[in-house]
Amino acid sequence: MSQNFSGSLFVVAAPSGAGKSTLVNALLAQEPAIKLSISTTTRQPRPGEEHGREYFFDSADSFVKRAAEGEFLEWAEVHGNYYGTSRVTVEEHMKAGTDILLEIDWQGARQVKALFPTAAFIFILPPSIAALEERLHKRGTDEPHIITKRLLAAGGEIAHAPEFDYVIINENFNVALEEMRSIVRATRCRFAQQMARNASLFAQLGIHAQQAL
Ligand code: 5GP
Repeated sequence: MSQNFSGSLFVVAAPSGAGKSTLVNALLAQEPAIKLSISTTTRQPRPGEEHGREYFFDSADSFVKRAAEGEFLEWAEVHGNYYGTSRVTVEEHMKAGTDILLEIDWQGARQVKALFPTAAFIFILPPSIAALEERLHKRGTDEPHIITKRLLAAGGEIAHAPEFDYVIINENFNVALEEMRSIVRATRCRFAQQMARNASLFAQLGIHAQQAL
């Protein structure tokens, strides 16, 4: 399916506190051609979050109905709330040749892999457990019992790191950001993406798609 699309699909997952959002936001600032998919969630907005910017906030009843109608490319229950990615948005961006990035959990990543096996799957790790705990506490946007819940969940998320293609260890922010950019650049140079983006050049040069070696 993805082979005919010139846009690249990036899937980024991490345990809470690995610094995923900061890293992704910095990547998007440097690579403005990549569109971030805004997920729908049933969790309450945190202070400062806006409907349509961080998430589309919805009720659980409505979410379940929309999921049953196939509106989400993938969806999952994470920390007791539902989260889902808009199918139409992702497919439209990819057809238009726009790169798109999904910030989702491992359950969602697994569903996306079944649909788009050639997408770039990136997992962000904290440099240590201590750093993870510290970042979760510093964030201070959630109640302490939620932080404890997320710490426990972090172990569960990390257990799925082996299912991803790339791992970024977020110890030095600038190094981690450069590594993310390297993955983006390499993904854009993959044969299928180059061929879809430069169809007439490939045709002129007599290059045709063939089965993987
Ligand atoms: P938070 O509520 O802290 O923003 O996100 C909690 C978790 O939900 C994070 O691991 C985040 O990656 C994940 N998440 C956010 N949006 C989606 C989505 O659309 N699908 C899935 N499967 N997970 C998501």
